[in-house]
Amino acid sequence: MPSEVLKLTPPKDGHKILITDAGLRIPDDPIIPLVEGDGIGPDVTHAARTVIDAAVEATYHGKRRIVWYPVPAGEAAMFRYGEMLPAATLAAIKEYVVALKGPLTTPVGGGFRSLNVTLRQTLDLYANVRPIYWMPGVPSPVTHPERLDIILFREAEEDVYAGIEWAKGSPEAKRLIATLQKEYGVHVREDSGIGVKPMSEFESKRLIRKAIRYAIENHKRSVTLVHKGNIMKYTEGAFREWGYELARTEFAAETLSWQEVQEKHGGQAPEGKVVIKDVIADNMFQQLLLRPDEYDVLATPNLNGDYLSDAAAAQVGGLGVAPGANIGDAHALFEPIHGSAPKYAGMDKVNPTAEILAGVMMLEYLGWKEAAGRLREAVKATISAKVVTYDLARQMPGAREVGTTAFAQAIVERLRAA
Ligand code: NAP
Repeated sequence: MPSEVLKLTPPKDGHKILITDAGLRIPDDPIIPLVEGDGIGPDVTHAARTVIDAAVEATYHGKRRIVWYPVPAGEAAMFRYGEMLPAATLAAIKEYVVALKGPLTTPVGGGFRSLNVTLRQTLDLYANVRPIYWMPGVPSPVTHPERLDIILFREAEEDVYAGIEWAKGSPEAKRLIATLQKEYGVHVREDSGIGVKPMSEFESKRLIRKAIRYAIENHKRSVTLVHKGNIMKYTEGAFREWGYELARTEFAAETLSWQEVQEKHGGQAPEGKVVIKDVIADNMFQQLLLRPDEYDVLATPNLNGDYLSDAAAAQVGGLGVAPGANIGDAHALFEPIHGSAPKYAGMDKVNPTAEILAGVMMLEYLGWKEAAGRLREAVKATISAKVVTYDLARQMPGAREVGTTAFAQAIVERLRAA
């Protein structure tokens, strides 16, 4: 039985990030909730917090700072408060708008909804954003990892992840199977589990809108809509159609479709225009391996994006170095792509780079771009100098293997020396 009722006390200093009609108002001392997470979460979030603080200090010399607000979730919260995701934690993230998070364990099998899925749905964090690029020195299974430099916008609330599913033999599954047979003449085996794949115009368009806006603001060449529309015409195929329609109706001045580039511009996109194109999901996997430099921004439905981002991350050195963010219209939650790797919990061993780069994304989101750039460069320089954790050291001849804390310390020293 849980021994305590959770009451959270926000930090006494620092200020809230405010949501205004003109966008986010970021104070110089924002309060940022920090979810340590499970397994290796405490190790990697501690390292990230240390280097983020050092980067902010080295850049703004005390004029700006982050006031961290630790909030519990996951196994530790379950043990102490009887809930994996306490309402007070959710409320704090909602109130303070931007948060940093470590990985959370999702027990396999019945009984538990993924906490990450719950967080995304409750806070309406509809875009899962994953930048994937190579850092010099990071071992990679491909010959030219530097050619891959993409940012993937993955829809995060719908598709087969919406959680609409029923077990084989359940009354709901039986009723649906009977209805499909009776009303639609569709035969489904009686021993089937049933899942539903909803994909709406609203969700698809707001995800693609974010991807196109990002491409325009960051002077990217193209946005690629990734889909499996040749098979799933009214979900994945519609995602493609809605994407082109959105670009035509809302971004006519800034974008061109691939077809227009061929037909009206001799295959050469005019300077400054973002090209909207589409690729079928299975082809996209080989495209990223064979012609990675032809892609910049990808917009994908939920499941395709999940698979594709892990595969692409492997191309540039694996999950230990890949960050991500869950972003809504204002709220944003930054995290590594990797999970809680329970076998390494508390060993001060794993690579905190993904959590640190999630912190870099967070600093960018706050508009603290200088600090973000400094931190990214310090991580790159540390890895290039072959000071790395076990995962990279085992593939890097001549590397000096260090633990999580020592790796973070090496980054702090670079930030202070710069
Ligand atoms: P995982 O925790 O990502 O770990 C798989 C393997 O990846 C590890 O054994 C390790 O490989 C390597 N790895 C992961 N993070 C690393 C790091 N920071 N540094 C170095 N190597 C790292 O995947 P999993 O074992 O499938 O999942 C464990 C739990 O995490 C599950 O409960 C899952 O649901 C959850 N999860 C949470 C999130 C999230 O919170 N966003 C995301 C994914 C999974 P080696 O052993 O080969 O060194």
